[in-house]
Amino acid sequence: MKIVVVGAAPTGLGLAYRLNELRKSHPEESKDVELLLLEQESFPGGLSRTVTDDKGFLWDMGGHITFNHNYPYYEEATKWAVDDWNHLQRNCLVDMNYLFDKKGIHLVPYPAQFAVPLFPEPVKQACLKDLKERYENTEDADAKTPGDFEEWILKHFGPTILNTFFKPYTRKVWTVETEEMSPNWVGTRVAKLPQEKLEELCAMDPEQLSKADFGWGPNAVFCFPKYGGTGAVWKSMADKLPGDWFKYNAQVTSVDVKGKSVTYKDKVTNEEKIIDYDVLVNTAPIDQLVKSTKICPELNIEHNKVFIVGVGLELPVTEFVKPFTWLYFPDPAVPFYRVTFLSRYGEVTPDSSKYWSVMCECARKESDPVSEEEIVKMAVEGLITKSIITREQIVSVYSTTLDYGYPIPTKMRDSELARAHTVLEENSIFSRGRFGGWKYEVSNQDHCFVQGRELMDRLVLQIPEKAYKTGVVTRQTA
Ligand SMILES: Cc1cc2nc3c(=O)[nH]c(=O)nc-3n(C[C@H](O)[C@H](O)[C@H](O)COP(=O)(O)OP(=O)(O)OC[C@H]3O[C@@H](n4cnc5c(N)ncnc54)[C@H](O)[C@@H]3O)c2cc1C
Repeated sequence: MKIVVVGAAPTGLGLAYRLNELRKSHPEESKDVELLLLEQESFPGGLSRTVTDDKGFLWDMGGHITFNHNYPYYEEATKWAVDDWNHLQRNCLVDMNYLFDKKGIHLVPYPAQFAVPLFPEPVKQACLKDLKERYENTEDADAKTPGDFEEWILKHFGPTILNTFFKPYTRKVWTVETEEMSPNWVGTRVAKLPQEKLEELCAMDPEQLSKADFGWGPNAVFCFPKYGGTGAVWKSMADKLPGDWFKYNAQVTSVDVKGKSVTYKDKVTNEEKIIDYDVLVNTAPIDQLVKSTKICPELNIEHNKVFIVGVGLELPVTEFVKPFTWLYFPDPAVPFYRVTFLSRYGEVTPDSSKYWSVMCECARKESDPVSEEEIVKMAVEGLITKSIITREQIVSVYSTTLDYGYPIPTKMRDSELARAHTVLEENSIFSRGRFGGWKYEVSNQDHCFVQGRELMDRLVLQIPEKAYKTGVVTRQTA
């Protein structure tokens, strides 16, 4: 069986890492498997890459942290790849200045819904009234299944938190309205606020509460490579796997579904090459695959784009940001939804005795005409307005645009994807990963790596996949 993979990032590397294991654990079953990863860049990693700017600062493509959602397999694999790790305790707060009529910054605990006792009195009372109604009417609420994310928020929190936090923050990160999103992705990604928790929060000393990170969610503790940024994990893993499985500078330009072959351009020689496959694994955006192959009508799914703005700075670190790993910004007056204090994570400056660094993530609709230059200007001004940096400290400004940033969990998403997977899988094409699979709730590095592993197990050992649900009825029940 010849498996060709488009892309050498966490999903593709999950396939390769697993095949390397199967060669030892299942030599008979895996002996006839041939693997080739075609990667358009000259290095592996994809969105989990790290780049070095002209001044020697290292930048990830957004605040990448390595944590796992109960996947010890992923943890073992990343530890196999990289020896030196920093272990960090998350400390993040949310800037809700607009609620307090302030121009600068006003930090409250994360998740913001846990900060209700600190909201201005009228807002706090309205939130408490909404929540009380919900605690008292659980039967009515349980009977109604939310049809969209907005209904989910209304069910669990009520209109005040919806309007003061969820709506502005959803617009910043997702670039759509809450009612455009499905409620199905929420799972462990949005903290609920049970009555006991609210009572505990209301009883806390406000001073203590204002500085709290409640340790909620799977990333409360995380790791980061000591050297080389997040990209070091994937570079190092690829280097330890058989070299002839990887072909870099190889940009897939077309797929012949019936003939089972892909054409790729060798970006070094400029030659076009054709290569046959028995199984094709796509980790590039699934909308592009469907569009170029015309295997089925185009997909009605949505994504946004993300601008990364990295600012390299001279020490000293601004006093009030010292304890934080990152901060969230629902404030519509600044372009970033998150600011990461990247130099706290690992060695990512030219000299940590002289410099520190801050990275902004700014999401926009795919169709937004704003330029990268405009975003950079707004982000730097925003950092200054929020008193996070001073202009005089700046020694480097890096920026890049991720045309595919977040796969948006819209209401049509699952049925649209199932439609595509049905016909793709009939033709031995499997699309997995952040944009190959397009399911935000399983699109972090650990999810994608495990999707690669499970797909290899399915192809070689006929073990059903668990992490990614295609929605293909016949396959899943077969
Ligand atoms: C802003 C942001 C923040 C994030 N934060 C975190 C975090 O904190 N923690 C976490 O675990 N994850 C995080 N992620 C998610 C992480 O980046 C992804 O989980 C991971 O990179 C997905 O891997 P992948 O292999 O599915 O796809 P990708 O990373 O998208 O890689 C796809 C690969 O395919 C290649 N490719 C595409 N088209 C072609 C072609 N035609 N021919 C050849 N090659 C091609 C690309 O060059 C790329 O290398 C974040 C992502 C973003 C955007």
